[in-house]
Amino acid sequence: PQLINQIAAGEVVERPASVVKELVENAFDASARSVEIDVEQGGLRMIRIRDDGCGIDREDLPLALSRHATSKIASLEDLERVASMGFRGEALPSISSVARLTLTSRIRGERCAWRVTADGTETDFDIEPAADPDGTTVEVRDLFYNTPARRKFLRSEKTEFSHIETLVRRMALSRFDVGFALKHDERTVLNLRPAETRAEIDRRLALVVGESFLENALAVEFSAAGLSLSGWVGLPTFSRSQADMQFFYVNARLIRDKLVSYAIKQAYRDVLYHGRQPVYVLYLELDPALVDVNAHPAKLEVRFRDSRLIHDFLFRALHRALAEAKP
Ligand code: ADP
Ligand code: MG
Repeated sequence: PQLINQIAAGEVVERPASVVKELVENAFDASARSVEIDVEQGGLRMIRIRDDGCGIDREDLPLALSRHATSKIASLEDLERVASMGFRGEALPSISSVARLTLTSRIRGERCAWRVTADGTETDFDIEPAADPDGTTVEVRDLFYNTPARRKFLRSEKTEFSHIETLVRRMALSRFDVGFALKHDERTVLNLRPAETRAEIDRRLALVVGESFLENALAVEFSAAGLSLSGWVGLPTFSRSQADMQFFYVNARLIRDKLVSYAIKQAYRDVLYHGRQPVYVLYLELDPALVDVNAHPAKLEVRFRDSRLIHDFLFRALHRALAEAKP
């Protein structure tokens, strides 16, 4: 199983930031209200994610580390309408096949936490008691220690950490109701409390994408035919127009999609933003059955069941918002 897991890891775990992505998604799925991310040496030495979510039962701990064991979907039908971030049951076994992984978890009301350690080779897991609070902690050490070829492809600690920071910022905009803390080598890089009020939401947005975006952005709110689009788009007065300021979420999942960026670009071009890269933070909400999230192992891409519908909807929503804002 280790070899199979390592092959799967090749698709899911490209670099430290991919580990962080999978573990934070698991925290979201566990209904966490707070996610703490500690990273050492760009994540090459250590990544630790702790959440205050529902936790894992003692007897389910070994299962969580087994391939294709997911508690999130039970049937093919469920796969057609995935509402959770995870569903492949691949992340933990993949990570544990290319790193030293410790999983500690405590269910509310349980008298102590339980811990399993895996290095991808064992078939029997030792489960020991631990003193952790409610929720789950996953610690990942020495990423790619046993796959030197993969480790060679990693960049400097600084670069790897910047990938992590970018990712955490993007994820922080996918769930305003969750608090995030990010530390690198003991230094606090990001500390965001759950945001509920308009002012708190704006504050988080400003912290993540910058004050000037907020000042030069137009709020978007549009729904039709069961689809809804909300968020912000940058006005031409916003000078920093770069592709790294394009955030698009489908049912709270950050994705990249050619059709989406094309529809947005078209709407911009049509109204007033000739030749510029649009800047946006947008949230599309739709029935999970209308989108296939199982199109990419790292779940970075989705496939819309009716892409024409999505394209036209996005174009219409943005065209309208931009045209109204036109001086
Ligand atoms: P998936 O997310 O696709 O189900 P993973 O390998 O990421 O697969 O996780 C395997 C299982 O472990 C999950 O289905 C879930 O039951 C459990 N799990 C993982 N992380 C957490 C967490 N932070 N809190 C609660 N349960 C978790
Ligand atoms: Mg997962």
